[in-house]
Amino acid sequence: MSDKPSSLSPDETERLCAKPLAGGRLSREEGELLLHKGDIHKMGSAAHEMRLKVANPGIVTYVVDRNVNYTNVCVSRCRFCAFSRDIGDDDAYINEYEPVIRAKVAEAVELGATQILMQGGHHPSLPFEWYLELLRSIKRDFPETTLHSFSPPEVVHFSALFGMPVREVLAKLRDAGLDSLPGGGAEILSDRVRSEVSPRKCTADEWIGVMREAHAMGMRTTATMMFGHVETYPERIEHLERIRALQDETGGFTAFICWSYQPENTPLGGTAVGGLEYLRTLAVARLYLDNFTNLQASWVTMGPKVGQLALYFGANDMGGTMLEENVVAAAGTAYSMTEAELRRLISAAGFTPKKRTTQYVLLE
Ligand code: SF4
Repeated sequence: MSDKPSSLSPDETERLCAKPLAGGRLSREEGELLLHKGDIHKMGSAAHEMRLKVANPGIVTYVVDRNVNYTNVCVSRCRFCAFSRDIGDDDAYINEYEPVIRAKVAEAVELGATQILMQGGHHPSLPFEWYLELLRSIKRDFPETTLHSFSPPEVVHFSALFGMPVREVLAKLRDAGLDSLPGGGAEILSDRVRSEVSPRKCTADEWIGVMREAHAMGMRTTATMMFGHVETYPERIEHLERIRALQDETGGFTAFICWSYQPENTPLGGTAVGGLEYLRTLAVARLYLDNFTNLQASWVTMGPKVGQLALYFGANDMGGTMLEENVVAAAGTAYSMTEAELRRLISAAGFTPKKRTTQYVLLE
């Protein structure tokens, strides 16, 4: 999907953007129009105005965290994925708690990490007890750490593999130490898109269903969107519509994060959308998701410079320091930064950096 020329005038764009700024709500049609044809400068300044209204205006938050992948073995074989492997592949792995994961968490905690974002492929035969013991072990040895782990497709995979309702899977994971769920695996919440790029992964309804159950149990989660592959603009808006509706219902999402598809080494291939397309999508997300406080800048995929620009297109949070990132890196693009570098980037963009918890509580 390529960047398209704007065809709404600046004044027309400004009129549409004024609606959420005045407390109204963008319709699907208005969202599509902005995404497709809105004037990028007007959308950016409206998204920034909205961000200044709903989130603390002088600061940009971030969390110190580490991504830990417990296995790259996956039966889903999503076409946009360069990370997964089959059992028996030379580079297929399972990371056990001792010694690998314990050492990774210890190193992260040493560097000030408060959050562990643990995710993996959909392994066909690891028993449920293996996952529960992993959570218990981390909580036993690192009780202060927030376990922000297992995205909805993994939960649906566990539910099918172990013959347990989603609610029971979540309850057992929570009892073993799980604190919150990352919103990964949402890609685009449209079954037309999912049947094309990830036919073996959970449906849009199942993704929403896991989040609804998690929120009902008092767990907070994030929501994500990976765009710029086979979806249309209306399907991007359909995605935003679904998460806005669930947020109306539960209020359980802490943040929204969007990033663009990274095609390198993937079966789907194609080309990555540019920074402009990312910024216009982010701006529309800020204006459309009027019930979200926090939107993250995706510097891991878009790079530090676009990450800084994102802070003027609706984002108020820099996400995690990502001490380790393997999934995006496998698809060719992943930037990494130390906490000091991240803070410098935020300050240079004109904001005060503030370290936070997974639940957006300020730590300084
Ligand atoms: S994106 Fe996740 S579920 Fe899909 S193939 Fe890759 S590891 Fe498996």
